[in-house]
Amino acid sequence: MNDMRAQLAIVLLLIVSSVCLAPDRAQPDLLLFHGHVITMDPTAPSAQAIAIAGDRIIWVGTDAAAQKLFPSVKNKVDLHRATALPGIIDAHTHLFELGKSLLRLNLKGVATEEEAVARVRERVRSVPPGEWILGWGWDEGKWAAHYPDNDALSRAAPNNPVYLVGLHSFAAWANKRALAIAGVTATTKDPDNGRIVRDEKSGEPTGILLNRAQELVESHVPAMSLEQTKKAIELAAQECVRNGLTSVHEARVSPVMIQAYRELLREDRLPLRIFAMLDGADPALVQEWLSRGPEIDPTHRLTIRAFKLFADGALGSRGAALLAPYSEAPQTKGVVTTPQAAIYDLTRRSLEKGFQVCTHAIGDGANHFTLDAYAQALRETPSAHDPRLRIEHAQVLAAEDIPRFAQLGVIPSMQPTHCTSDMGWAEKRVGAERVKGAYAWQSLLKTHVHLPLSSDFPGETLNPFYGIYAAITRQDIQGNPAGGWYPEQRLTLDEALRGYTREGAYAEFEEKEKGALQSGKLADLIVIDKDITQLESRPKEILSIRVLKTFIGGKLVFDGSAPSRQGP
Ligand SMILES: [Zn+2]
Repeated sequence: MNDMRAQLAIVLLLIVSSVCLAPDRAQPDLLLFHGHVITMDPTAPSAQAIAIAGDRIIWVGTDAAAQKLFPSVKNKVDLHRATALPGIIDAHTHLFELGKSLLRLNLKGVATEEEAVARVRERVRSVPPGEWILGWGWDEGKWAAHYPDNDALSRAAPNNPVYLVGLHSFAAWANKRALAIAGVTATTKDPDNGRIVRDEKSGEPTGILLNRAQELVESHVPAMSLEQTKKAIELAAQECVRNGLTSVHEARVSPVMIQAYRELLREDRLPLRIFAMLDGADPALVQEWLSRGPEIDPTHRLTIRAFKLFADGALGSRGAALLAPYSEAPQTKGVVTTPQAAIYDLTRRSLEKGFQVCTHAIGDGANHFTLDAYAQALRETPSAHDPRLRIEHAQVLAAEDIPRFAQLGVIPSMQPTHCTSDMGWAEKRVGAERVKGAYAWQSLLKTHVHLPLSSDFPGETLNPFYGIYAAITRQDIQGNPAGGWYPEQRLTLDEALRGYTREGAYAEFEEKEKGALQSGKLADLIVIDKDITQLESRPKEILSIRVLKTFIGGKLVFDGSAPSRQGP
């Protein structure tokens, strides 16, 4: 830069900064005060008041200063010393799946056949004849000693196919109409790994389908319409904001989901911010988006700039691809679902076009070859600017692969509750040596990676405080095992909070927009009923934290502190 230009730049900088510091600053539309504000801004970690104009935070500071600066704000909210945090960014979710489960008839906790049938009878009243009634949640484990048949179920819904999946998805219960549509009769053979439960005398199917036999009926359940998809996503988004989530990274997005997001946004029915990972296994979708390029939303509502791939399966079912055989199943090393060459190929093409790639990798083998694929693609695309490639889960890592994340700038995107859900059997799968690289949050952090945290709901709860609890304890909610499972990998409360705020923002290229409560950032924040910073030594109390308010872009999208509505 020559001297003249440098001087001009300095003058401009002075003008800009004097404008920002001018005393007659913009007046806020909304002032939150009397709060215990945890900003997640290391330069000013706590505050009492937040001023918001439009969808942005314009000022953060003390009550006394707020009084002086903004004496005449009309819209003020007294936080009554409650704690405010940046809105939670859940970096790996399945919003649509959550929504589907919310749309189905909920049979969780139903104790008897009569009760389940009564709920179906109730539902029949609001559903046109012929439409499927889908339910979920009857306990196939508890009911296994005496499964019902479908006589009562069929009488309750003679004109609607009914299909009710068990709590753990190992069994389903179908009425006669559903079996007829699927063509399941006395002569239908049991599929591999499945059983059609039959009447002992007549041989007729009773309606109970075990394991893979469920697919005989499931394959006839019609795909959801656009309207149903929108309804599902809307319900799930409401559930998210109730739980303090303000942004989600949706893992694997299909064309109908994109259309649903767009229409919901237009209809002002989607309060949540969405960072979508396109389904990288859909070649037409990949082609379409690679040719049109990323869609980065200037309003930060819906950004589409990533592809999701699957390198392997899950550890529990021995589908995770390991470098060496499973410790308790020496005949298998797991399953590779997308080979290294294909991951390399999509990554290289994505880097050229400015897309991020997020690859599901659970086993140390899958992580190893995904890192290799990323390394090659990065090497061959030196023009790629700030790529932030991600590995989703990064669950079991070989010791030599841990430092490669930081070296390559690859983001491990991890789920604290996966650790606490799996810790009862994970060591059996991989043995005492490899388990040291499992859910190895602290080993990764020591190498200075970005570590976004997430829930992977609905497989796990979407309540982020369960995730924070799991991250800092590595214990189940009863507090077992004492001291935590491989406690050297625990996170501090600050690291966990960072994972659910700033690091989530970084993982979606939005660290300048959100993840901390600072002037200039989007006004995404939550108010909670306990001071979480006092609970590191009493972590169980974190589990009962309630969200009182959720603001997204300065708008109150959930108010749990309002008195609950009375019946009609
Ligand atoms: Zn997932």
